[in-house]
Order: sequence, then structure tokens, then C-alpha cells
Amino acid sequence: MTIQSSNDDASQVLADAHYPTQSIDWLTRLIGFDTVSRHSNLALIEDVKAYCEQLGLSVDLTFNEAKNKANLFVTVPAGANADHVNHGLVLSGHTDVVPVDGQDWTSEPFTATIRGDKLYGRGACDMKGFIACALTMLPQAVKLSNAGQLRRPLHLALSFDEEIGCLGAPLILADLKARGITPDYCIVGEPTNMAMVVAHKGIAVYRCRVHGKSAHSSLIAQGVNAISYASRLVGYVDTLAEELSTRNGALEDGDEIFTVPYSTLSVGTIHGGTATNIVPNLCEFTFDYRNLPHMTQDDVLEPIQAKIAELNAQMQARAPETGIELMQEESVPAMTDNDSAELQSLIAALTGDDERHKVAYATEGGQFTNAGIPTIICGPGSIEQAHKADEYVELNEIVRCDGFLQKLLNSCAVN
Ligand SMILES: [Zn+2]
Repeated sequence: MTIQSSNDDASQVLADAHYPTQSIDWLTRLIGFDTVSRHSNLALIEDVKAYCEQLGLSVDLTFNEAKNKANLFVTVPAGANADHVNHGLVLSGHTDVVPVDGQDWTSEPFTATIRGDKLYGRGACDMKGFIACALTMLPQAVKLSNAGQLRRPLHLALSFDEEIGCLGAPLILADLKARGITPDYCIVGEPTNMAMVVAHKGIAVYRCRVHGKSAHSSLIAQGVNAISYASRLVGYVDTLAEELSTRNGALEDGDEIFTVPYSTLSVGTIHGGTATNIVPNLCEFTFDYRNLPHMTQDDVLEPIQAKIAELNAQMQARAPETGIELMQEESVPAMTDNDSAELQSLIAALTGDDERHKVAYATEGGQFTNAGIPTIICGPGSIEQAHKADEYVELNEIVRCDGFLQKLLNSCAVN
């Protein structure tokens, strides 16, 4: 595997700085697969599967309904006398990436390109960098396992469709449950600059469709105005948002480690009406709810549904065919830090940094903690570069991630 480079100095940069060629080769290989969520990820999965099988590992795939996408789960087993035969540590990453449509890239997004001390390409930081480092470490884990020196199994979980609502990971978790595998911990390698993220908010996205009744605007008594009723509900969502910010923001109920220390509700889109002189029969809006880990989606859903029932009664008294539909489009649970103290101590010891961060973006970590597996997020690169044109990872971050995984592997080995 050669490093694609935009200038002749790139290989010299690598040679001079002793960058880890194996992880960089893997990252180059992974970026070469166009795994934008709307496409199949099977070519990448087959490539990784073949690699794992060459190492003598058996690989489990779980597929989406259309069978054009798969999750991969592979275990480096611990010896029969080890402490944690059915438990172990999961390294988790998503294989899909966000689209490059409409973005202005300096170099081809699906060809890894090194310029200076950075590697550019879609997925460089979010999150093929972590996967590359994990795959590079795998042969050493197998060596330890074969020598009977692995105390706790090491698992690699690669998912599909994370970027469009974390749709793949639940299939992995259901499969583990069915097979009686109960991992002790999970590390999700989303980009954190190798800092330790111990919790994130949950996200739920809702679409609200208000069905009114058309009439000429000179005859409003014959119609039911969908925009007017939608705006009452939007006003109510804003009132709830205000309450959350004062209730949680007062911090008896909030969490000051989050940048925004309270749960939020935000209306994002609204569409309705066809002409000024027509009472509109349809208005649709979307909103999202980002809850602190100790709150649930029902905390806002129940009052919103009560408000909808009240508005429905008013609308249907005027025209029975009218009313409001509320649909959930996406939902990812919050990742809590309640149960992961032991894991946090382990990671703090390995990284030498015990600062605990909490973030507002959602990851598969919420699904892992929800399944009872204490989880943290720690991976190379910065979330600032994710999803953008010229996404990159600093090569030094790959060095740090390799070092981190090496120490982690040592911590799983028999002393
Ligand atoms: Zn990601």
C-alpha cells in the first residue's frame, strides 16, 4: 500500500517523523472505500473480514433489511482460564461517512492525501482514523491470545448507518445479547483529540404535521387554519424550552460540564400554506430535543402530547377531519457516566489525563450504555474537522491513538 500524496515531500515527512506507516496505510485503504451512508459499505466490510480471517479470527456480520450494508463484529478470544471469557472490551467505530456533495475539496475526498503533517480525506477523523489504529493493533492482540496471555477478550465492532441515526449498532447489540456476550466496557473512537468524553446528551427528532381545512380567506369561518394551530404548538414548544433552561440552567437539575448545561428543544423547519388568500390546510414543522442524561424523552413528550390533545379538540369541534400528527424521526439515547467510573479510571491511567468531558452530539455510545455496557468516547482527530470539506486528521493524533491502544492491549494482557 502506498501513501497517495499531493507533493513529493510527503513520504519524506513520514520518514523523518517516524509516523506509523501501518495505521496510515490502513487509513488510506479505508478512506478509499466510498462509504457515504446512502451507499453500500460491503466492500469495506469484506476487506476487513478477509483481514480478520487471515489472522485466524471468526467474524460475525449482521445485515440491514436490504442486505446491502453490514455490521462487523470480531472477537480476539481470551484463554479458557481467563477472568472475563464472555466479557471483554469493545472497540467501536462506524464505517459510514457523511456526503461530500456541494463541498469544495482541495484533493479527491476518497483518496487519502498527506499535506504537511495532516492526512486529508472523507472519514479521516470521523471515524476511520480510529478504526485504522484498531485494525493495526489486531495482530498483536491475536499473538497474545494465541500465547494464552490475553486476560480479557478484545472485540471490534464496526457499524453502518451511524451518520443517519445510529441505525446499525442496535443490531450488533441484539446479536451480542442473543449470543450471551456481555462486554465489560466499550470505547467509541469518535474524534475527541484523544480526550475522554464520559457522557453525551440524547437526541430525538420529531416531525409535526398539522392538518387543517382549506377555505377562501374571505370565508375563514368555513376553514381551519393549519398555520395558526401549528404556530400555537410551536409557541408551546418554545415555552417548554424556556422552562427547561431555567429549571436545568439553575443547576440544581443541570450539569455544568456540558457547554449548554440544560436540556434543549429547538424548532428547525416549518412549511405551510399555498397563497395569502387561502386558509391553509397543511403546515408541517420539525423540532429536536437534546436531553441531559438524567432526563428522558417522555419528560417533554408527555406535555407536548397533552397540548396536542387540547388543540385537536378545538380543531375537530370545527371540522372533524382536522388534527395534528406527531412522528418521531430519529432517536439516540443519552450516554450516561453513572456506571463507568471504573472504565474512566482505567482510561485516565492510560492517557495520564483524568479530565472528564461531556458533549452535545450523539453517538452509538448512548446505545451501548443503554444496553448496560459502560462506555466512553475517545478517538483521534477533532470533531471540528468532521463533516467538512478537506476533513483531516493530524498524523500526530494517529501516533497518539496507536500508543493509547497499545497501552490498552497491555492492560488486557496477563502480567
Ligand atoms: Zn462519527
